[in-house]
Amino acid sequence: MGIIVQKFGGTSVADPQKIHNVAKAVIREKEKGNDVVVVVSAMGHTTDYLIKLAKEVTNNPDSREMDMLLSTGEQVSIALLAMAIQSNGYKAVSMNGQQVGIITENIHSKARIVDIKTEKLKKYLKEGNIIVVAGFQGVTPEGEITTLGRGGSDTSAVAIAAALKADRCDIYTDVEGVYATDPRIVPNIQKTDVISYEEMLELARVGANVLHPRSVETAKQFGVPLRVRSSFKLNNLGTLIIGVENMEIYKPVAGVAADTSQVRILLANLPDIPGTAAKLFGSLAKNNISVDMIIQSLASNGKNSIAFTVDADDLDSAIKILKEDDKDTVKDGEILIDKDIAKVSIVGAGMVDRPGIAADMFKALAEKDINIKMISTSEIKISCLVDKDKSKEAIKALCKEFNLETNEMAIVKGDLPDV
Ligand code: ASP
Ligand code: MG
Repeated sequence: MGIIVQKFGGTSVADPQKIHNVAKAVIREKEKGNDVVVVVSAMGHTTDYLIKLAKEVTNNPDSREMDMLLSTGEQVSIALLAMAIQSNGYKAVSMNGQQVGIITENIHSKARIVDIKTEKLKKYLKEGNIIVVAGFQGVTPEGEITTLGRGGSDTSAVAIAAALKADRCDIYTDVEGVYATDPRIVPNIQKTDVISYEEMLELARVGANVLHPRSVETAKQFGVPLRVRSSFKLNNLGTLIIGVENMEIYKPVAGVAADTSQVRILLANLPDIPGTAAKLFGSLAKNNISVDMIIQSLASNGKNSIAFTVDADDLDSAIKILKEDDKDTVKDGEILIDKDIAKVSIVGAGMVDRPGIAADMFKALAEKDINIKMISTSEIKISCLVDKDKSKEAIKALCKEFNLETNEMAIVKGDLPDV
């Protein structure tokens, strides 16, 4: 008998019938002899609705009051789910973040969890209860209610699993697991059976949108085995996310993603003197603008050029900074903007000891006549900037090149948690 933490998102608890379906999935796990803690989000689009409501009252809602308001969404769903479980003859108790003792930093709307008290959870489990915990919320040491940021219930669930040293944390959702790319772009893409925390984090950073990234970081830090699985097909195993050290990796690439939210800024004819890059990127950083890809070309005739990408939302402020604060550094250099870009990335722990993956990526793009505007690499990721309207074609070509349409990506070494 083990401890299983389950998490169900807003769509899974959107109405009373769905809440009863969740109760079934919870009871099913309990019936296997496990202790079960279930974390839920607010019903359906409740959080969006509450945000809208606040904005109708004032343009500038206070962040403390915002957390007071948003935390009510989850309080509704936990009580209803506990009732649904009880109506099937099982013992259940709902708890909000404060009752559990989910202690967070003293920051509203995006607090991080610093500690989770386990005494009450353990006591209720010992008494045979299924515990239903409100996701997305916590409390500061001073007793102030906080929330963890949109999508934060995933992180609540993983953190509780870590605190209880649970055998597994199952994130139930409306898809069947993690896919190597967006199934809307490559319809025959296969679900991934196993993927590493590292790959999942990189994929989340380059545009895949399955799990709250902090939940994956927490799972990695505490070694919590995570499963993403379907709340409609309970017998499906979904995707297991574990440490790379437990995997035997067959394929170099685990996933392909595209990010169309960036723009490229090109600074041509810059003076080729020490300190230019330091000044330019220093003033962007000072204004909280993150820069992603950077290329500096070879200098000639005492001139140089630097191209880099920023979030499209930051474009106007970045240009303003370059034209005003950096006037003396840019001098008579030219500032050019390219909005028509997509960053296409391949991610895979298996590329580490395999030469030639970058060359294969470039070849696959070249064969489709897709021009590469910029390249950047990290240990387990290669990104290419391409024209925005070529991004889907690029994804398709890369999935084909790296055999992601078939499902033999990884096998697992050693013991795996049971399902
Ligand atoms: N209810 C919160 C949101 O909509 C938290 C979550 O769903 O994970 O963002
Ligand atoms: Mg979610």
